Amino acid sequence: MTFYEDMSPYSYWDGGDCFTDRTTGYRFLTFEPAYERLNVGWLSDDQAWTGGAVPKAFVESLTAVLDVQAVNVMLGLHECELCPPLDMSSYEPLPGRQRSSVGTGEIRIPSRPGIAFAAPALIGHYVVDHGYRPPAPFIDAVLAFDPMHFSSARYPWVHFPWVPEDAVLEEVQ
Ligand SMILES: [Zn+2]
Repeated sequence: MTFYEDMSPYSYWDGGDCFTDRTTGYRFLTFEPAYERLNVGWLSDDQAWTGGAVPKAFVESLTAVLDVQAVNVMLGLHECELCPPLDMSSYEPLPGRQRSSVGTGEIRIPSRPGIAFAAPALIGHYVVDHGYRPPAPFIDAVLAFDPMHFSSARYPWVHFPWVPEDAVLEEVQ
């Protein structure tokens, strides 16, 4: 997986942010973000990362976001490079792990106005299974973000506050 330094500007995909409806799996909302995206949690096996304890409430809140958001899933699978090589057919956690070593897509966490963190879905695995400690601003933003409270008025399945009027809805059946 591509490595990006924590807090660096997001550049993985320049086609906007695409949110998948996880309740159906076939609705997609794409828009050009008016917010700046900062990378967090794009770990690689050949780059240093920060370990350490994180608040239990942070893990719970992060898990809640991972349960309802799916951003840019069309960019494919991410495989954890910190785990042993995987049988890619399995989404089940490896023995002794809490979360799968394979993830699809990303999440968006609103921070201060105009800033959102862009993290791979694997960040949950990195935190609970490898002891990764994200930067403090990310932890604070996750703790402050209740994805079920922040839903788009027009698209209630998009659990993110900053959806512009000109967002494009696609439905694939
Ligand atoms: Zn892993």
